[in-house]
Amino acid sequence: MRILISNDDGYLAPGINALADALASIADIVVVAPDSNRSGASNSLSLDRPLSVQQAPNGFYFVNGTPTDCVHIALTGMLDARPDLVVSGINNGQNMGDDTLYSGTVAAATEGYLFGIPAIAFSQVEFGWAHIDAAARVARDIVLRRLDALPAPYLLNVNIPNRPYEALTTLRATRLGRRHQSEPVVRGQDPRGREIFWIGPPGATKDAGEGTDFYATAQGEVSITPLQIDLTHRAQLDALARGLA
Ligand code: MN
Repeated sequence: MRILISNDDGYLAPGINALADALASIADIVVVAPDSNRSGASNSLSLDRPLSVQQAPNGFYFVNGTPTDCVHIALTGMLDARPDLVVSGINNGQNMGDDTLYSGTVAAATEGYLFGIPAIAFSQVEFGWAHIDAAARVARDIVLRRLDALPAPYLLNVNIPNRPYEALTTLRATRLGRRHQSEPVVRGQDPRGREIFWIGPPGATKDAGEGTDFYATAQGEVSITPLQIDLTHRAQLDALARGLA
């Protein structure tokens, strides 16, 4: 099995190193990841400049671009062989509910999925990398399952509580929850007196009921949500068509 690994925290992040270590024992891996932290990059492609690829002493390739850039160039000419699986992460912090729209971690996996390759995004629920090796073992367990019952390609969003491996016993199929709108922007002044704005933190959970990713991880379970990319609001399609008639 060939696995392409990327992330949005950058190629030096502990999460991608732990994930690569865990998967190297079961697959041929290649790592192509951003040269710096591009969290929140979503599905952006860099179209205004060329991208450079360099190789680190540990073999990882790093790119001066976004997570989506990394997977895109890997799949469209950089790699000699098409991977069987694209994985992303392990992210420093949760990507649940509405987070998935902004996440570069999910976006890197999505890019593989859009090219017809099964893909999995992995995130740890809490910041700080506590129990990252346990999360990497869980990621390897999930990859080893091959999930052959799912129609290929699939796109899975996995959130792993920061717990010891022995405490990560339950894998739960979930749907995305919802958040309230983001906290207000943080307004201030730079050292030269110019007004600045910092994007605030995400909102609190709004729909964290049973069956959601938020609920499962709060119970200490590993949350796995199957994602799709078609954003069509089918329930509104008829009403729109009638309104336009
Ligand atoms: Mn990140």
